[in-house]
Amino acid sequence: MKRSIAAISLCLIANAAAAQAPPKKIEVEKVAEGVYVLFGSGGNIGVSAGSDGVVLIDDQYAPATPQVLAALATVNPNPPRFVVNTHWHGDHTGGNENLAAKGSVVVAHDRVRQRMSTEQFSEFLDHRTPASPAGALPVVTFNDSVSLHVNGEELRGYYAPHAHTDGDTVVVFKKANVIHTGDLFFHGMYPFIDLDSGGSVSGLIAGVDKILELADEKTRIIPGHGKVTDQAGLAAYRKMLVETSSRVQLLVKEGKSLAEAQAAKPNADYDATLAWDFISAEFFVRTLYEDARRRLK
Ligand SMILES: [Zn+2]
Repeated sequence: MKRSIAAISLCLIANAAAAQAPPKKIEVEKVAEGVYVLFGSGGNIGVSAGSDGVVLIDDQYAPATPQVLAALATVNPNPPRFVVNTHWHGDHTGGNENLAAKGSVVVAHDRVRQRMSTEQFSEFLDHRTPASPAGALPVVTFNDSVSLHVNGEELRGYYAPHAHTDGDTVVVFKKANVIHTGDLFFHGMYPFIDLDSGGSVSGLIAGVDKILELADEKTRIIPGHGKVTDQAGLAAYRKMLVETSSRVQLLVKEGKSLAEAQAAKPNADYDATLAWDFISAEFFVRTLYEDARRRLK
């Protein structure tokens, strides 16, 4: 059980397994004028493309870089000038080294650089991620917010503390009215919440509230994983997070063991549509249970 979780998690949070597998074909979707999303093997890549060149939000796994660049060439001939990492996980930062070698400047929250600089160990997944090579590390880091003024647009990155990890950035394309949520939002599936990287359920919900505040009914929302949606799609996800986490918190307060909490299937109404191979119904309950247990300790 433990092994299968760790093996699958490699696909999401590290590069090892994905580095072996051939990268998936990259699909390009236009989200707004000059804004695109690339879907492929890792997290969704947001793109601003225009007369100043290309800015990427995340860059998937290293082996996908040639496909990412080929997909980008269909919308703009220039290599990316900047890459913003929404957080440290390998399915969002794996292309950093390749792109930096081609001249991209990588921008991220301070904690992203810190975590990528040293080996990371997840007790929850029983999984080790080695330190990234120096060439993959973000060169520009910030601790609260950052703006990139390009393509007649302001790309504003906001820090969301203790959400999916402790170094998450949400990127708002102000003029185009698009938001890339990073992994604060998994659309159409249960989210991974990396408790061992400083993520938390309450921080995640607070981060989602901040995004909902920044959005309006016309905003296009690019999730870290899953299809592009809107404010209503994100609001439904928030409702699910609040309901499922309150149910599991109650079970923890009642003194139920993890196995008892899982057996109770507290989120049966959501499991059929949101459980998937990495975040199964049991895994999601385990995450919520562990989060509640750590908080009540
Ligand atoms: Zn992630």
